[in-house]
Amino acid sequence: MTVYLNGQFVAREAAVVSVYDHGLLYGDGIFEGIRLYSGKIFRLDEHIRRFFDSAKAILLELPVSPKTLAEALHEGVTRYGKDEGYIRLVATRGPGDLGLDPDKCSAPTLFFIIDTISLYPEKFYREGIPVVTASSRRLPADGLDPRVKTLNYLNNIMAKVEAKQAGCIEAVMLNQRGEVAECTADNIFIVRDGVLSTPAPHCGILQGITRQTVLELAAEERIPARESILTRFDLYTADECFMTGSGAEIVPVTRIDGRIIGSGNPGEITGRLILAFKGLVRGLPAVNVAR
Ligand code: PMP
Repeated sequence: MTVYLNGQFVAREAAVVSVYDHGLLYGDGIFEGIRLYSGKIFRLDEHIRRFFDSAKAILLELPVSPKTLAEALHEGVTRYGKDEGYIRLVATRGPGDLGLDPDKCSAPTLFFIIDTISLYPEKFYREGIPVVTASSRRLPADGLDPRVKTLNYLNNIMAKVEAKQAGCIEAVMLNQRGEVAECTADNIFIVRDGVLSTPAPHCGILQGITRQTVLELAAEERIPARESILTRFDLYTADECFMTGSGAEIVPVTRIDGRIIGSGNPGEITGRLILAFKGLVRGLPAVNVAR
């Protein structure tokens, strides 16, 4: 593992933050989860852009420029030395006196960790996973815009707990209008009659970088795709369903709230997109089995 903290690479034992850090005290901060494939940082520009957008939205002035941050990340990858890994990039409001006021904090804390990633078991990709709808709703944009990747994940964590209590590993989260938003740390897609659909940004989602990649791959694969409003009915009656995220990549979903999706096995278009995604990130040829 490699850790960078406030401008320096430090040993694990030295990688500590203050108990007065407002990131810890109030969840006042932002983060990114980024993948390292074959020694390359996947979609780094997009992650840096989202990180700076999140910072701007919460009035957090980062102590580095996007270019300096990218250079530090590249140096971190060199020091890490392995080809595959996961990067957790975090910025908090920094240490300050007790009390919510961000002006109590003199300087933000900026760190990243590069480490190995614990992947989902291969079985999930082969067989698909069951999910349930959680009663915990995604936060409305007039409370905290879901496009900001903040350190406030407690409602998502509660939804994850509901999933586990129902014997699943993931939950679908709805927005305040009862429309489908996303999973607890992943975006969601369905396929019906050959058309790919995913909740639009205004449905209250984090605009996932894997989601965007999948939309681009769908265009390359000539799979019609749209961003729209989806309800639970649309999920239940879909031919295929899958979720996407930097850690999970593309995971087929084969049961939702006890309803079997399509044939109950990962769908054909899902399979094509998984292959195309693997081809993109691992340099494998994107063999199209369906054609
Ligand atoms: N939604 C939420 C709530 C997330 O936290 C994440 C990232 N873990 C995603 C979607 C997927 O985003 P990305 O593809 O950029 O990892």
